[in-house]
Amino acid sequence: MRFNPTLEKIRNYEAGKPIELVVREFGIDESEVVKLASNENPYGASPKALEAIRENSHRASLYPDDSMYALKEGLARRFGVEREELIIGAGSDQVLEFAARALLNPQTKVLMTKVTFAMYAIYATQQGAEVVRTSCYRHDFDELSHLVREHDPAIVHICTPNNPTGDAVDREALYSFLEGVREPLVIVDGAYMEYAVYKDPAKKIDPKELIDRFPNVLYLGTFSKAYGLGGMRVGYGIARREIIRELSKLRPPFNVTTLSLAAAVAALEDPDFVESSLRRNFQEMDRYLTFALQRGIDYIDSYTNFITYLFDNSLSSTQIADELLKRGVIIRDLASYGINGIRITVGTREQNTIFFDRFGELLDGRSTG
Ligand SMILES: *Cc1c(COP(=O)(O)O)cnc(C)c1O
Repeated sequence: MRFNPTLEKIRNYEAGKPIELVVREFGIDESEVVKLASNENPYGASPKALEAIRENSHRASLYPDDSMYALKEGLARRFGVEREELIIGAGSDQVLEFAARALLNPQTKVLMTKVTFAMYAIYATQQGAEVVRTSCYRHDFDELSHLVREHDPAIVHICTPNNPTGDAVDREALYSFLEGVREPLVIVDGAYMEYAVYKDPAKKIDPKELIDRFPNVLYLGTFSKAYGLGGMRVGYGIARREIIRELSKLRPPFNVTTLSLAAAVAALEDPDFVESSLRRNFQEMDRYLTFALQRGIDYIDSYTNFITYLFDNSLSSTQIADELLKRGVIIRDLASYGINGIRITVGTREQNTIFFDRFGELLDGRSTG
């Protein structure tokens, strides 16, 4: 067998560890395990979405509506765009993949911030493209502009708010950057945009305004985070119709299931659920800030449903992640991103209390030797 040589350069995406693994490996009871690793919505999904899944279960034997009419109609109304300016994926991840396949090959480059969503580099590498990164973990538009001129990338990734750091760019700063970048496709990933808008309207990137002003932008959104439908795999891309037309050529038929489409349509019709998730998220986020201050831990101000704690040299993020795992708390070690820190998804009140208790124990054990 001769596998594609590009595969040699690809590391598997390291998904958040499942609860089952902790139960199996450490013999901890499932009810004692807290998973704060994948930025899922800890409050579940809208009851209306769950009801739609049940109501549509009898349609499981039929292929879904491949035009995705109802969901496109819902999204078009929500954002004030046309159905032709929308593409739906099995998660926004799949739309990212379409974009990579549409534009990248071994002669091309992709530009991104030093620390950002791991899938950007994975899809780029799958296409044999070269990955160029900035030198700083925050979006530095001066450096990005400079690197666009130097490398002439086919795709530029802007993740705002950024995963795994949680910081977000200002709208005006993004717009002035885009004024000077007219050639590459700029992908603006708004997976956590609902959270950012709730916290600070200056961070709001409106997809309609974005594509009206800039013809070379693809905006991504997802139902996996604020909408609480991570298990249903639904995301979307918004761009000028010329871009959507090309990406659609790469979309496999029936890529989103009947139940997922029904859930997403219903979720759009329940803004109260999203609103209450956002409110509770930031109430609980405050406890993470207080904990960090009390313990002298550095953190990155977050516009999302997760927070990144940064450690000095006296602590190792990998050791902390391992020790927490043994205590039944799953969080994300950022060592593989070159950061001595951990990313914690903000959970429910009870989940967060368990995190503070067990992490506190761990820190106390350390300081008393
Ligand atoms: C979670 C996430 C996505 C996509 O998630 P899907 O479940 O595939 O929709 C995209 N970008 C970022 C930055 C994310 O954190």
